[in-house]
Amino acid sequence: MYDVTLAPCAEYEAAACRAALEAVLAPLGGLDWVTPGLRVGIKVNLVAAMKPETAATTHPVLLCELVKLLTARGAEVIVGDSPGGLFTAPFVEHVYHVCGLEAVEACGGRLNRDFSTVEIEYPAARAAKTFTATAWLRDCDAIINFCKLKSHGMMGLSCAAKNLFGTIPGTQKPEYHFRFPDYAQFADMLLDLDDFWAPRLHICDAVLAMEGNGPTAGTPRPMGLVLAAENPHRLDLLAAALVGLSPKDVPTLEAARRRGYLPDSVEALQVSADWRPYVCPDFERIEERSSLQFGGKGRFVSAFLRRCLEARPEADASCIGCAKCAQVCPAKAIEMKNRRPKIDRSRCIRCFCCQEFCPKGAMQVKRPLAARLVSTGKRRKT
Ligand code: SF4
Ligand code: SF4
Repeated sequence: MYDVTLAPCAEYEAAACRAALEAVLAPLGGLDWVTPGLRVGIKVNLVAAMKPETAATTHPVLLCELVKLLTARGAEVIVGDSPGGLFTAPFVEHVYHVCGLEAVEACGGRLNRDFSTVEIEYPAARAAKTFTATAWLRDCDAIINFCKLKSHGMMGLSCAAKNLFGTIPGTQKPEYHFRFPDYAQFADMLLDLDDFWAPRLHICDAVLAMEGNGPTAGTPRPMGLVLAAENPHRLDLLAAALVGLSPKDVPTLEAARRRGYLPDSVEALQVSADWRPYVCPDFERIEERSSLQFGGKGRFVSAFLRRCLEARPEADASCIGCAKCAQVCPAKAIEMKNRRPKIDRSRCIRCFCCQEFCPKGAMQVKRPLAARLVSTGKRRKT
């Protein structure tokens, strides 16, 4: 059995998408586990109301081909997510519309319209022993996690493991950043969500990935790939290698390694095809702090180094003064002054919610000059 399967898919054209999905599913045993009447929930990435061509969300053409494969086997298919913002009918319907998801209902699937939430107790968790979740997935017999490959300000990579954060109701997400301000803790919380929901299958839309200022304001990057796996972390390990990220740059991969979910290196993965020709060495990624090691230097020296070297949010000249960043900041670290966001660095927990939800892509993850001087290798321009 393969750890990860991959297939080329040059464009979002129905026949090409169908062929790519069949090619990634076949080596994993196909969809024989799908029986008539099975209720399958597809958890897509609908981070915000953004058109498919922005590469921020799971593409509807690829999604519809999966829906058709499942309904052809008699499954009842429900597609949904909780984007950043309200988990209410008017808000989410607007996101469905802008993201082109109405196509799901034209091809036999159903969009989720259960906007209730449920309190979950998960004693086996390492970090999130209790959490509030969207209820719709709990009522499904099987879950497919259909993520998008994107760079991510806080976690380095938005792919399979990160996508389950969308099971937390949108308005509560900032609270989770505050509850788990440390990146390793936050990653552990994400792994708890992955373990709890235990999707049957993970599929990644990397036909058009997002590089740069992701996960919402980056640049579409054609990669021409679809990936699949039964284990989200193995999929992410390969995805990270494809975009030139070390596991040390991705806290969820580090957390997965701590839990013994990963082999020592990407080279040890059983992959269905040679992935090396698909590596994008110039993929523009967000330089992150996780590769910077501060341990063993004493508390005050570490704190000083962090202040000097860690990446931080910074608004550029395209800021329109809308104050959205101040509204979403879980640490209340942003104050608007003269229609410009002023960030209190001592309060900032570097969750990058302000960057993720800035409607103009004006909030950027910036690295201080000192960090740029000491870093090596190809990095995102800051
Ligand atoms: S959300 Fe973006 S555009 Fe709006 S005030 Fe903040 S930085 Fe400026
Ligand atoms: S300023 Fe931005 S990065 Fe800092 S805590 Fe607020 S939302 Fe998070």
